[in-house]
Amino acid sequence: MKINIIGGGPAGLYFAILMKRADPKHVITVWERNGPDDTFGWGVVFSGKTLSNLRAADAPSHAEITRDFEAWDNVDVLHGDAKISIHGNSFSGISRLHLLKLLQHRCEQLGVALNFRSEINDIQALKNDCDLLVGADGVNSTVREKYKDYFQPTLDVRPNK
Ligand SMILES: Cc1cc2nc3c(=O)[nH]c(=O)nc-3n(C[C@H](O)[C@H](O)[C@H](O)COP(=O)(O)OP(=O)(O)OC[C@H]3O[C@@H](n4cnc5c(N)ncnc54)[C@H](O)[C@@H]3O)c2cc1C
Repeated sequence: MKINIIGGGPAGLYFAILMKRADPKHVITVWERNGPDDTFGWGVVFSGKTLSNLRAADAPSHAEITRDFEAWDNVDVLHGDAKISIHGNSFSGISRLHLLKLLQHRCEQLGVALNFRSEINDIQALKNDCDLLVGADGVNSTVREKYKDYFQPTLDVRPNK
């Protein structure tokens, strides 16, 4: 199957990895508008349960992801001068850029083609050129917008501190 994936964030890259594992004959291309080293600055936090799922799905990328992890088991609630630490929560964190680099590397190992600095505006042309088109283009997804009559998305913006 020929698969085009719009978006080289965690979802697009990990989907490519899983599809290649399912069948190495799939011809998979990821189209990402940013460069391989461009990203937003924050880190990504995984629960223990998520890590178990990642290990079960693809052990090599799980091993890479966990190698440089920071791990902790407390959630601190700060109120006024009081701090209450709640232990027994298994969390680990990694920077988003590091995570993306590891997933990019795993994609390359498996033979996924990664096209960076490739903004997709003509979705229909890419759709016509494959058996499966995947919209992994984030919260402001162009794909979701184009096919909104079918997906019928709703967005509910809430306030936050
Ligand atoms: C401040 C903040 C902190 C967060 N912290 C955490 C956390 O700790 N743990 C956690 O699990 N999640 C966290 N999240 C959520 C997490 O970032 C998202 O769930 C995750 O990034 C979604 O991955 P994605 O691959 O679906 O989308 P994205 O990461 O948004 O990736 C989409 C990709 O598609 C590309 N793209 C978009 N349109 C096009 C186009 N037309 N052509 C080509 N490329 C395109 C974009 O450049 C982008 O690289 C946080 C989010 C924010 C905002």
